[in-house]
Amino acid sequence: MAGTESLLPCQSDCFLRSVETKIVRCEQEKLGKRSKGRFRVLLETSPLYPESGGQPCDKGALTLLECSTVVEILDVQRSDDGTVTHFTDVPVPEGASVRITVDWQRRYDHMQQHTGQHLVSAVCDEVLGADTVSWELHARADSPGGSNDVMVDLATPSVNPDQMQAIEQRCNAVIREAHAVRQILVDDSNREALSVSRLLRGNLPPADKVKGPVRLIEIEGVDINACGGTHLLSSAELQVIKLVGLEKTRGMARVHFVAGDRVISALSGFLTLEASLNKALGCGATDWPKALSKIQTERKDLAKKGKLLTEEVATAAGDQIAKNFSEGSSVHYHRDDADASFLGLVASFALKANPAALLLLTGGAPLPPSNPAPAVFVVAGPPDVVKRAGHKVAEALGAKGGGRPGLYQGKTASLENVEAAKAVLDAEAGPSPV
Ligand SMILES: [Zn+2]
Repeated sequence: MAGTESLLPCQSDCFLRSVETKIVRCEQEKLGKRSKGRFRVLLETSPLYPESGGQPCDKGALTLLECSTVVEILDVQRSDDGTVTHFTDVPVPEGASVRITVDWQRRYDHMQQHTGQHLVSAVCDEVLGADTVSWELHARADSPGGSNDVMVDLATPSVNPDQMQAIEQRCNAVIREAHAVRQILVDDSNREALSVSRLLRGNLPPADKVKGPVRLIEIEGVDINACGGTHLLSSAELQVIKLVGLEKTRGMARVHFVAGDRVISALSGFLTLEASLNKALGCGATDWPKALSKIQTERKDLAKKGKLLTEEVATAAGDQIAKNFSEGSSVHYHRDDADASFLGLVASFALKANPAALLLLTGGAPLPPSNPAPAVFVVAGPPDVVKRAGHKVAEALGAKGGGRPGLYQGKTASLENVEAAKAVLDAEAGPSPV
């Protein structure tokens, strides 16, 4: 659409889903940091809403009437002069007749959430006397972290649980009462009456500061607010509003909510999750706290027993290593499932039994000739020997490491050269050469 100061078709009729029109221009964006080289398409008219005022853009389909080819419209943006640009991944022929169809599921969701925001903001003003400072709505697919919440930041530092409940109850009462939602265009005939209406949030934008008509959205008897987005025709179409969270941000209270189909799909998700947790825990949701407490107690008991058993195994291994040690060489101990902390424990017991012992301990992967796999190693023994031998053993294993006096440890890509590493340590056995 060329630059225009009149209402967009989707603002005049938020339920317009499709129009037939012509392609005015199609040109490829230059590739750049922010440009993906997509095609910018200008149309004579379009039912699609361009991103603005906190509402995400519509997506939709462009059908070439001559051949029925369908091209996806990925994005819609409006520039400062009012020109609306549609973005596609493929070029489309200038002058061609086309049908433009709105992705209605996406749009209707935005209309529910956006109208929901008008209602939540109005009720927060009513219940708390707090203005809405900003709000945020993400398309479901684009939502960061998969969160589908709509956020409203209020000019108040906190909201208590009773107030949260009162806001939710009042919103749902307005929904049940099916208040009409309509657009009011401000002109000389109604400006004065509107500017003093008790339902008006904020002030009317001055006529000389706005390009085109000033558009207000009214929820009959509840709220009047200046807005350029797309909205429902009745509060009843909101179905339900659920407040789902409250946080503090920059000294303001941020209320999270969902409306309409997002409530239903969230509930479906929770019910599926509940069913799978009931199965996993072997009980219904009311017994989850008891079941989880039992699991936590059992886990603590198991951890305690596991620690005792680990120490028993490490003590036995340490004693055996100390017995196998003979002056002038080192002992190699290996266990496929051992980690560095277990190997350190074995080393401490071995050295307790024989402080002169020199040890190479490996674990985390099977020994050769198995397939190479990441493993851990520990060199332990008299501090002077470990100090000069540790990095040489690491080098033989093709690894790096570090440690403290008497213990050097590291990770290696494989234990393929473990025999060579053992030979290096054997060569260092004995007192420091003088
Ligand atoms: Zn709005």
